Amino acid sequence: MTERLPCKSEGCKATILPATAAKTGGYCMPCVQEQERRKRQAYIEEHRKTVNLYEGLTAPVEILKLKHTPRRHDPLIQYVPYPLKKETIYAALSVEEAEEMLDYALQLLAAGDLETSRDILSSLVCYRNHNIAAALSKLMECGMLHPGVLYKDAAAPIRDRLLQRLDWDDDHRNSMLLALSWIGDEQVLRRFREWRENQPSWAERLYVAPETYAREAGWELTPGGERRDLIHSLAYSIAKREQPSNSEMEGVARFLNPADSNCPWCGGKLDTLMDVDTAHPSLSYLELAEERLQIQTCVRCGCYGVIYMEYDSSGVPGWSRFNRIPDYLQDLSPEEYDGEYLAAGPLLTLSSQPHSAFYTTEWGLSQHNSQIGGHPSWVQDAEYPACPCCAKSMVFIGQLDWEDFEEYGEGIYYMFLCQEDRLTATVYQQS
Ligand SMILES: [Zn+2]
Ligand SMILES: [Zn+2]
Ligand SMILES: [Zn+2]
Repeated sequence: MTERLPCKSEGCKATILPATAAKTGGYCMPCVQEQERRKRQAYIEEHRKTVNLYEGLTAPVEILKLKHTPRRHDPLIQYVPYPLKKETIYAALSVEEAEEMLDYALQLLAAGDLETSRDILSSLVCYRNHNIAAALSKLMECGMLHPGVLYKDAAAPIRDRLLQRLDWDDDHRNSMLLALSWIGDEQVLRRFREWRENQPSWAERLYVAPETYAREAGWELTPGGERRDLIHSLAYSIAKREQPSNSEMEGVARFLNPADSNCPWCGGKLDTLMDVDTAHPSLSYLELAEERLQIQTCVRCGCYGVIYMEYDSSGVPGWSRFNRIPDYLQDLSPEEYDGEYLAAGPLLTLSSQPHSAFYTTEWGLSQHNSQIGGHPSWVQDAEYPACPCCAKSMVFIGQLDWEDFEEYGEGIYYMFLCQEDRLTATVYQQS
């Protein structure tokens, strides 16, 4: 057996072959690698430059273009981040500046940079509801059919081209049905009705019936063939602040409070996701008789299926008789949950001004998604639960995105209402 030598590093218990020792000066390989890592790190720290690419830039369009420019990671350069997020800058653009961004997106599209172009177009449409109808024929020519929300303001000729292409374009039918759903006008409605009566041959290759696509755009085709909206266009963000405030908004809307009653499934406390004054503009369109709308769920069990709550005439919610325990619900122990999200509750504030109804439509963009109203940001397919009383789809009221307030949080709780039957529901999705 060859004699092994101890590694020279203090505290290292490894032994090495004499041949290794000769090569490394008496150190084991992990120690050599660690020394090299430290040397590299020291070099980086000594030579790293701080670069502020935004220095001197004041025009929002230039700042946005820079923000959309992909940057290769270089350990020797530390970039100073711009203090405002893209969505904030987009929302504050003038119409002329938005048009400039649109032109820029079309230039990138023509040059083949579809990804950046798509990000800019989505930002214009979602964050500020900018009308890009005039650019849609270019988008179609360049094959940019996704995301469908880009097509929501399309004029009749674009809509008709999409409808014609459905017959033959097997590769893009999914995207085109989504785009048509976002258009959702009388003509689209008529075709959805026809397809429900007489299924077109191409529909066999879809996973769902053509008219089901409408739900991705926030509406459905009723049994009577009408359009029924499942969302409301007024949208107010729910943002986390640094400090709890005593402002007047606090009484108007509260989020993430432990409820008084327990979850019959896991035994832990139920959670009040939101408790909002129904006179606030984000809910006043509902004309609820109750003073407050409280939406409760169990955030532990609610990840595994729909949880319904029934509220009484004074708005007090209670566990619904319609809840069915999911077969696959694990044996949950509420003690294992730290309830960190509850600490964020007092910091969450409803904004005083509405933002674009489409603000959170594209889940993959950089915005925070928590809001009351507007379109949901579906992580997976649209999932409007059916009311267990009247069987109608429940309407979307708001959503809380765990990523917005927990460091390692993920997943979104979506909240729904059936006003006639005094029922609320929650659905959870994550990537
Ligand atoms: Zn060692
Ligand atoms: Zn539970
Ligand atoms: Zn109902």
